[in-house]
Amino acid sequence: MFDAMYVEKTATGGQQVSLRQLADEALPPGEVTLRVRWSTLNYKDALALTGRGPVVRAWPMVPGVDCVGVVEASDSPLFQPGQEVILNGCGAGELHWGGLAQRARVPADWLVPLPEGLSAYHAMALGTAGFTAMLCVQALEREGLRPSSGPVLVTGATGGVGSIAVMLLARLGYEVVAVTGRLEEQAYLTALGAHEVLSRAHFEAPPRPLEKARWAGAVDVAGGAVLAAVCASMKPQGVVTACGLAGGMDFPTTVAPFILRGVTLVGIDSVMCPRAQRVVAWARLAELIDTEKLQAVSRTVPLSAAAETAADLLDGRTKGRIVVDIP
Ligand code: NDP
Repeated sequence: MFDAMYVEKTATGGQQVSLRQLADEALPPGEVTLRVRWSTLNYKDALALTGRGPVVRAWPMVPGVDCVGVVEASDSPLFQPGQEVILNGCGAGELHWGGLAQRARVPADWLVPLPEGLSAYHAMALGTAGFTAMLCVQALEREGLRPSSGPVLVTGATGGVGSIAVMLLARLGYEVVAVTGRLEEQAYLTALGAHEVLSRAHFEAPPRPLEKARWAGAVDVAGGAVLAAVCASMKPQGVVTACGLAGGMDFPTTVAPFILRGVTLVGIDSVMCPRAQRVVAWARLAELIDTEKLQAVSRTVPLSAAAETAADLLDGRTKGRIVVDIP
């Protein structure tokens, strides 16, 4: 038997979440069985646990898009019992039972060995949020952005993806401008490496097709009006990575930034990212992350507190990263 967060449908069409004991035989098919040590709460996990967004697509579900653990049994030559591995994305917690549980069973090619130099705890302090921030940074670099190109904007900067994007970009020598709805967190963002902190309010009014050209690069977690305003204020040849929808699913923009300033908009999807890229991104995170700073932006909650903490996350009462201790 093992403990797991369990989300099921109610007779009235809603959902209920509980901490359950489940039998090992109930685990879904997969080549590798893990003893989970740490998991996390990402925005998507919060939606799944609260039912505030259609994240769960198979019922009942054990949520949790990420976890780190030790291989207990493996039918794959890729992994041996005793090896520490990371699971993130690939449909875990959405279509296939995920990481908010003491055990998980998944296909071998969803797993990445824990890279050298990164502890299991720190891997989950990063989690999908940190992984996505890394994919954004790599995409900016692939499109030619360099520290000499000019300032780089990060929206939703006090959130999980935003906080880690600020840290990574600052570490790489970029001039980072953090955008936040919580200006009272200025000291937090400066400590992560932001050169300047701007209010999200500047980015929420409907933009003109082109605004003053200010940013060479941008990592956007907000979508909606904020992403439109970011695109309108990019410098010529600027690069924007879009990974989130914290501010909305819509995108009320014009083609002006793309056809008049040559702006590139790169979409980032951490879930279906190919395994080879996952391995590279996790290795780069292990190399770049300042674990002391990471620890300072992370807090740990027990598995039993996952559901109430999920509501706090969606209501803007958390910042940085939340690690879930799996006993
Ligand atoms: P968090 O909740 O930790 O952070 C989101 C941040 O967005 C908040 O902290 C807040 O930062 C900002 N925000 C909140 N409400 C709004 C709003 N109305 N308009 C603009 N900004 C807002 O979530 P994560 O960092 O885990 O995820 C951020 C986004 O990225 C989510 O939409 C998530 O779904 C997406 N995501 C996508 C992935 C992918 O593969 N594409 C992977 C991981 C996440 P502040 O107060 O500083 O403004």
